[in-house]
Amino acid sequence: MIVDWTALSSDRDETADVCVVGSGCGGATIAHVLAEAGKKVIILERGGAYAAADFDQREEDMLAKVDGGRGLDASHDLSVQLTYGNNVGGASVHYWADSYRTPIDRLELWQEKFGIQGHDHDALEPHFARIEKDLNVHVAAPEYWNPMNRLVQQGAKALGWTGHGVPQARKGCQKSGYCMQGCAYDAKQSQLVTYIPRALAAGARLFADTEAWRFERAGAKIVSLTARVIDRARNKPKGPVVRVRAKAFVLAAGGYGTPTVLLRNGFQRELPAVGQYTICNPCPMVHAVFDREIVQFRNIPAAFAVEHFRLARMEGGKYVEGGYLLMANQLQPATLAAVLPGVGASHRALMRDLRRLGGTISWIDDADYGSISLDGDRPRFRVPIDGQNGLRIRDAMKKQARLLLTVGAKEVLFGDLRDTRITRLDQIDGAVGSLDLGPGRVVLAAPHPAGGARMGSDRKTSVVGFDHRVHGTDNLFVADPSVFPNGPSVDPSVTIMAFSYVAAEHVAKVV
Ligand SMILES: Cc1cc2nc3c(=O)[nH]c(=O)nc-3n(C[C@H](O)[C@H](O)[C@H](O)COP(=O)(O)OP(=O)(O)OC[C@H]3O[C@@H](n4cnc5c(N)ncnc54)[C@H](O)[C@@H]3O)c2cc1C
Repeated sequence: MIVDWTALSSDRDETADVCVVGSGCGGATIAHVLAEAGKKVIILERGGAYAAADFDQREEDMLAKVDGGRGLDASHDLSVQLTYGNNVGGASVHYWADSYRTPIDRLELWQEKFGIQGHDHDALEPHFARIEKDLNVHVAAPEYWNPMNRLVQQGAKALGWTGHGVPQARKGCQKSGYCMQGCAYDAKQSQLVTYIPRALAAGARLFADTEAWRFERAGAKIVSLTARVIDRARNKPKGPVVRVRAKAFVLAAGGYGTPTVLLRNGFQRELPAVGQYTICNPCPMVHAVFDREIVQFRNIPAAFAVEHFRLARMEGGKYVEGGYLLMANQLQPATLAAVLPGVGASHRALMRDLRRLGGTISWIDDADYGSISLDGDRPRFRVPIDGQNGLRIRDAMKKQARLLLTVGAKEVLFGDLRDTRITRLDQIDGAVGSLDLGPGRVVLAAPHPAGGARMGSDRKTSVVGFDHRVHGTDNLFVADPSVFPNGPSVDPSVTIMAFSYVAAEHVAKVV
């Protein structure tokens, strides 16, 4: 059962075994596991409840519905655009559906460098297998590869860069290309069509438009959680609240949301790592004009990925190259118009070439941590893009330009404020070397937030233990990427879900 703001006109008191905050990959996964185990589960979701019929394939409508900041949220100095979920199903309704297992080398790093226990490959493997089955994860057949993906594969081959077909969570894809606007065909296997329905079928109750706000605490025990009902039409608190008493509470409000709830409730006084160590995979994009049709906005977004540079290569402690995935980019026309450089005649000329515009994007595996703090009640996100992150961003842009020119791009655009363009390989180093990465100068999106409530044993540098329980509490858990010690080095959704399965085992012990 889903209850939304229209049915919440007065205060309500509810009880449950487990109260889960957030209905994305982290929240929906743990909610369905615990509901199917017979626990009484309540899910509180700040965003709205939408179904496939609401996904009208209009970017301006859908961004306002499925994107947390309506496409306009940014880091403190406007360097990075923050993209995150704000709807039932969370960011998975917005996502591309790339579905990677966490690489073994990254799980080993988490174990060896960060001391993470209970989340190694052997522990996660059964969960990966189950997630892949439940979400129909597979590499897409050739008919689902658009021209841009074929070019990325050709370019990688020509340059000797390793890469593979990207595992996809899809069933019955119609190739519309509107993955980021919410799949109107229920083909993308988001949480909306997978673990949310299973949780509801097992008896979980979901309150949409309810923003978790204040915990009531008695020593180490969380007694209740009060959520503000959001008037969806005005996107503002409506007045009434929903108060949930439960035996256990799970924060799965996402990499931006979970640290925010913890900060609002003063947890950083005991646990200074709350909101620290944050990462977000800032993503640089490079655009290219071809002399033939690319139509990047149709078919699936990322059928093929260059994995050659996933791990950063260091020599003598100094950065040489890498630390990112490289894929075809997919943006719909209005979003493309917003991120392409220039105004007036030059911009109009580019938009006339829309069908011949291609491009690439990289997920940067953050080398520097940012932070989340509060400015009054509002979260403030600091994302460092100078330092080591900047080196990786520049290297990724160079490799993207090299690939695009190798496969015949007539002109490569870096999308910066100065509208830097090149046409030859020998121009790459100079052009990228002199790019201004300062605030608002280049477009960087940040779709993979994590780390703000990280896992560890030391209360000074971590927020949750290996059982996902917030240090110093009996019954407050975190089941989302906030617990990651650093990025998984691939798109994170499968890692988030697998960690949620582990968290569910620990939560089940206290309810
Ligand atoms: C455009 C885009 C494309 C992406 N593509 C991919 C991809 O191809 N593959 C991949 O693996 N990953 C991808 N990602 C990332 C992936 O979607 C997310 O990492 C993942 O879905 C996050 O899951 P989550 O449960 O941590 O958080 P979310 O999905 O963000 O869920 C958290 C939920 O909590 C809610 N919430 C927040 N605060 C509160 C509160 N106080 N009270 C109640 N509810 C609250 C939010 O509204 C949200 O719905 C993409 C992300 C974006 C934005």
